[in-house]
Amino acid sequence: MSVSAAALDRPICASLPVLGKDVTVPLVTGGEVAYAALDYAASAPALQRVWDDVAAYAPYYGSVHRGAGYLSQLSTDLFESSRRTVAEFLGCRADDQVVFTRSTTDSLNLLAAALPADCEVFVFETEHHASLLPWRDARVTCLDAPRTPGQAVESLERALVGRRPNGPALVCVTGASNVTGELWPVRELAAAAHAHGARIVLDAAQLAPHHPVDITELDVDWAAFSGHKLYAPFGSGVLAGRADWLQDAEPYLAGGGASRKVARRTDGGVDVEWHTTAARHEAGSPNVIGVYSIASACKALTEAGFGTLVAREQHLVSVVRAGLAEVPEVRVLSLFGDDAPRVGVISFVVEGWNSSHFAAALSAEYGIGVRDGLFCAHPLVRTLLGGEARDPGECGAPESEPGEKSLNAIRVSFGAGT
Ligand code: PLP
Repeated sequence: MSVSAAALDRPICASLPVLGKDVTVPLVTGGEVAYAALDYAASAPALQRVWDDVAAYAPYYGSVHRGAGYLSQLSTDLFESSRRTVAEFLGCRADDQVVFTRSTTDSLNLLAAALPADCEVFVFETEHHASLLPWRDARVTCLDAPRTPGQAVESLERALVGRRPNGPALVCVTGASNVTGELWPVRELAAAAHAHGARIVLDAAQLAPHHPVDITELDVDWAAFSGHKLYAPFGSGVLAGRADWLQDAEPYLAGGGASRKVARRTDGGVDVEWHTTAARHEAGSPNVIGVYSIASACKALTEAGFGTLVAREQHLVSVVRAGLAEVPEVRVLSLFGDDAPRVGVISFVVEGWNSSHFAAALSAEYGIGVRDGLFCAHPLVRTLLGGEARDPGECGAPESEPGEKSLNAIRVSFGAGT
């Protein structure tokens, strides 16, 4: 490898004017400003089309749902038509609901809060923490990492056979891994879940930016994704799917917007009638710009055509994998093997290199921004590294001494949307 250790402690920086302020960014060898962020799995850059749509809307920006004025009506219209756009993007069934949230994490926590009493939840240890951890009030069965998609289905079926008969159950599965990029057999897992009377929620955070996600065709009960991974800015997400559990549950947040009728009782208490639409879980003034941005990104991806996007991205995947294969010190991480279908998310270790130092060197020497650590999927990365992973700080890279070798992984991720 030709990354010099000196790059690690060489703070060569340039000042750039951003929004009228000077922002310091590192320079790469030769004095170029570092800019290539291969970190789409964390957050993808927003599409120019999305910024343009937001800019066009900005002069008409207003509060939704409650105002009688023109701007408020326009904003309400955009907000509700964004809901329809997302429903179409996800191939929702006629009676599905699209709830706007802050992110995938928020969406899955909302669903966790809406689980029926005594619900059992089945997850694989391979999940991102956003789909592994929200089910705190349920009886959770965490399944071992499978080594083939077929094993995943068999393992789920075995677990579901042993579950409490007739009680509610939910399977939560990711569509594409945020560590290996590998696609999971969602349709088959959904069929297994339903055959055993369970429901299934798809964590589509990594799948939706790369592949069409059709709730009806996959036959999943819910899907969740985040705007900021789908080429929209931060701050908005989606939970879409079956209305029944959502409408039987207490509102996720209590407050204005979620309530249809509120009245003071004679005994001094307060009676509330909650909405039975998606609004039930959207209390408070909603993030209109975030929601509109998601809809704009959904339209842009649909218009570009997933056929074209997938082909372009798969070309990039093969270029990156071929390049990595030429470096003897690199080991690419995979659960399902080299031939498994995958999106543009590739994690690897470099023998003899501390992953944090390697990632810092990629930024300092080549201007390539990647991520390193355990990627909010600690059990999966530990399994892939054979238990040699080091505990990180918050979701990220472990603290380590200079020169110390750590086997935690490095992740490059990209997409064809931009
Ligand atoms: N699920 C997967 C597979 C992810 O990769 C991520 C984020 O990386 C999440 C869920 C959580 O997304 P957010 O941080 O937008 O809530």
